[in-house]
Amino acid sequence: MRRGGCYNSRFAMARTTMEPPRISPEVMARYEAVIGLEVHAQLQTLTKAFCGCSTKFGASPNSNTCPVCLGLPGALPVLNKRALQLAMRASLAINCTVQQRSRFARKNYFYPDLPKGYQISMYELPLATGGSIEIEVEGEKKRIGVTRLHMEDDAGKSLHEGFPDSDRWSYIDFNRCGVPLIEIVSEPDLRAPAEAYAYLNTLKQILEYTEVSDCNMEEGSLRCDANVSVRLRGAPKFGTKAEVKNLNSFRYLTHALEYEIERQIGVLESGGTVVQETRLWNVAAGRTEPMRSKEFAHDYRYFPDPDLLPVSVSTAMLEDVRRSMPELPDAKMARFLREYGITPYDAGVLTASRSLADYFEAVVKAGAPAKAAANWISVELLRRLKDADKEISECPVAPAALAELLAKIDKSEITAASGKKVFAAMFETGKRAAEIIAAEGLAQISDTSAIEKVAREIIAKNPDNVAKYRAGNEGVFNFFIGQVMRETRGQANPQTVNEILKRVLAE
Ligand SMILES: [Zn+2]
Repeated sequence: MRRGGCYNSRFAMARTTMEPPRISPEVMARYEAVIGLEVHAQLQTLTKAFCGCSTKFGASPNSNTCPVCLGLPGALPVLNKRALQLAMRASLAINCTVQQRSRFARKNYFYPDLPKGYQISMYELPLATGGSIEIEVEGEKKRIGVTRLHMEDDAGKSLHEGFPDSDRWSYIDFNRCGVPLIEIVSEPDLRAPAEAYAYLNTLKQILEYTEVSDCNMEEGSLRCDANVSVRLRGAPKFGTKAEVKNLNSFRYLTHALEYEIERQIGVLESGGTVVQETRLWNVAAGRTEPMRSKEFAHDYRYFPDPDLLPVSVSTAMLEDVRRSMPELPDAKMARFLREYGITPYDAGVLTASRSLADYFEAVVKAGAPAKAAANWISVELLRRLKDADKEISECPVAPAALAELLAKIDKSEITAASGKKVFAAMFETGKRAAEIIAAEGLAQISDTSAIEKVAREIIAKNPDNVAKYRAGNEGVFNFFIGQVMRETRGQANPQTVNEILKRVLAE
């Protein structure tokens, strides 16, 4: 494809480069933002929405294509049953009502990476309607309405960069064409970028937990557009909204909303009017830019897709989906509190992602005490993962290996202090705890005569402090504890050290 065919880049070149005027906090405070999000999530199916082509990410360009997803004449689409089941599962998870009858419609528009000339979507009869998602911002809970959830297929991808002749040509990869998506449209219930962030985060967590989508934002499995308007606080009507596209990370979402809210307030404060339009978040420039005037539904000439039967959902199908629903985040958190007796804080940390929650349960199942496991994972393990910039799925310490370490601490085979050293080595080398303890000589000294020998040596070397202690200075006792622990490289049982020192000092 010759460059310039894509109206994205044409508009990007014609953009205005004006920064929005800086608005004082007093003026900002007089306004409130009204935000609604449209979230696209790729369904975790092996094959595409209406054909048998693979959905695998990263396959060589245009290898996962067939006459159906290329829109060749005469090819007929057939709905992927798994895609429908996952879309229904998502609908139930966000408290939507799944409609008994929904219908695919053609959304007509031209784009070089859309070979059919239309997208298969749902219009007047979406799959599910009327749901809600509960978010929490700074301890405050708020229910955000979900207008609808519908199914659609994805377009291909235009590649404008990365080829030797990219200055003259654009390339197209149709692998993504026909990949199944759901679009979840929220009510305009969000009032601040922080609420939008919490909403997207909660929705992402639900879709991951239910295995509806892997929500990999780098691979485009979760994408977000925002409708934003501002109005004077207390004004009865919504202001004119702009749609901001290309918000494919949490950071972009927050920054773009902050920018757009301030821009619109600036327009109104200077006596102008906000134009209804589609804007693009320009990552490099850190601003939203006009992309095209906002399209309206009638521009797309929606009509029922004559190649596809209406979608009919029976009570039995819906019950099947309900029965196979994995545990949702809130339910898991409640169960962790109940079953494991861990703190609400730890339960919150551990259930933040399903993979972390699964890891915790695997450690407990392998024999570790639940409270110790919760504590070690939420402190030691997460800190090391963060430092190493790794996900829990890449954790070099297997759940059984961590359980083995925690059991050794529990049985006083090593001290908690040594345990941290052993854990660090396990994380670095991937070796088992027993191997590291033996190699480093970290086994806890439970031989009381050995500890007593060290204690007596230290007491003999510090007559001044002994005198202070005997004169009633209790604080100096910690000095002796510290010295014995240092001498034994943290391997002496602290309780035993305490008892022996008390006894010997009292002689
Ligand atoms: Zn295909």
